[in-house]
Amino acid sequence: MSELNELYQETILEHNKNPRNFREIEDADKTALGNNPLCGDALQVFVKMDGDTVGDVAFKGSGCAISKASASMMTQAVKGKTREEADQLFDEFHKMVTGEMDIETEENHLGKLRAFAGVLEFPARVKCASLSWHTLNAALHDAGEISTE
Ligand code: ZN
Repeated sequence: MSELNELYQETILEHNKNPRNFREIEDADKTALGNNPLCGDALQVFVKMDGDTVGDVAFKGSGCAISKASASMMTQAVKGKTREEADQLFDEFHKMVTGEMDIETEENHLGKLRAFAGVLEFPARVKCASLSWHTLNAALHDAGEISTE
């Protein structure tokens, strides 16, 4: 199990170093700001819809390694998904990091996002890991701005 944890940690470090979709979408039709004052993570998520599908998604901002890696992997996970599928992933991710779901026994679509299951043991990090997802959710549902406090 510790080997698996190491692998997951590597995934997070790698995404922090080379975040995917780390840019602005000039003609985004949805955007939201997310703020985690506890850690100082602040990011903006941009979404370009293609009908009911997330055609393009990107983020900008600054934060700790976990918040950045999570945002990077979030963009990869939801690109090409319908809004409903993105909502479902958000729900599953949230349940995973808050311990409401056992990813080993309960069916889920998390895939690589399981790398963040370990934050469950670090309550202060849960907000870092879920910030980009809350922000995506706010963008998709036109909520504008969220703060994890
Ligand atoms: Zn953070």
